[in-house]
Amino acid sequence: AKPLKVCIVGSGNWGSVVSKIIGSNVKNMKKFAPTVKMWVFEEVVSGRKLTDIINSDHENVKYLPGHRLPENVVATPSLSQAVQDADLLVFASPHQFVRTICDEIADIVPKTALGLSLIKGIDEGPEGLKLVSDIIREKVDIDVSVLMGANIASEVAAEQFCETTIGSKVLQNGLLFKELLQTPKFRVTVVEDSDTVELCGALKNIVAMGVGFCDGFCCGDSTKATVIRLGLKEMIAFGRTFCKGQVSTATFLESCGVADLVSSCYGGRNRKVAEAFARTGKTIEELEKEMLNGQKLQGPHTSAQVYRILRKKGLLDKFPLFTVVYQICHEGRAVAEMIPCLQNHPEHR
Ligand code: NAD
Ligand code: 13P
Repeated sequence: AKPLKVCIVGSGNWGSVVSKIIGSNVKNMKKFAPTVKMWVFEEVVSGRKLTDIINSDHENVKYLPGHRLPENVVATPSLSQAVQDADLLVFASPHQFVRTICDEIADIVPKTALGLSLIKGIDEGPEGLKLVSDIIREKVDIDVSVLMGANIASEVAAEQFCETTIGSKVLQNGLLFKELLQTPKFRVTVVEDSDTVELCGALKNIVAMGVGFCDGFCCGDSTKATVIRLGLKEMIAFGRTFCKGQVSTATFLESCGVADLVSSCYGGRNRKVAEAFARTGKTIEELEKEMLNGQKLQGPHTSAQVYRILRKKGLLDKFPLFTVVYQICHEGRAVAEMIPCLQNHPEHR
């Protein structure tokens, strides 16, 4: 069989780390082509094009400074050229750009290609929940698996030990992506209820913002643990209410569930910016610009989509944590109201 060509669509903080893993793995495996293409949204950094910097210095100086990328990872500024002959597409852009990207590549991607989405976010659709993988499936018309887990990009880049979860509707495709991505330090479990895996990845960002708000007004560990638990309960209830397919409780015990929730509530960007929001009173947009140097938050947008889905179904009172995080982010509700909003949680009635 011909070696499979891999293209990474997106090259931010996490996309760059994944390019490091994939670039290094494919060198040792005949199944995959030795060169990995990476689409880079072109920008100029210190007077040079980011693609030129990556291809000559092998470092993404803007989004993953301090880590060398393998030389077989080739950055390209043209999205259509990057994807045109790909067998495996790894989607790693922030959620807010996925529709534009899919529209641009819809007629170019080979119909036999397989997709893997690393994107943590959801949309509201006509039937309620619309997953990012659904957007890719509908627009690009390929099979899509997802990869979500307790994976803080800088830590994975430093080769700290962690796990991740691949969700795949076609098990064989999930196993192929596992071959592409697993390393001794990055252990992959494949499960079949892909929608639950994806939903975990998106929803934990809302909980992480809730924990960040708690840090902002100096809550103790017991309160934060309570917010994490109530958040997990809301994640499960949301999955049960809105997923079309199977929602297995066991999936919440995989890395994509409880582990990603914990890591994000300690070390994630959403948590960090939410804490600064509570402390400074600046807007989320201002803080994102000030603190993240072009990296993007997924929590505020996800909380808005979730809020709309819940409101339409008349279910806001069943999800007080998701609701109050939205109201704090987008409607000027006081951060101090977060805890009172949780004191009459459906869990305690
Ligand atoms: P990021 O936060 O570093 O975002 C920056 C990226 O957005 C850059 O590649 C930039 O070129 C791109 N960009 C900016 N404007 C653009 C535009 N108009 N069109 C297209 N692209 C544009 O991205 P990330 O950290 O790689 O996150 C990607 C996804 O992976 C997210 O959904 C995130 O939740 C998920 N994820 C991130 C981490 C992490 O620790 N960073 C870990 C696991 C999963
Ligand atoms: P943040 O986007 O909040 O940094 O979370 C990263 C992540 O998803 C870790 O798995």
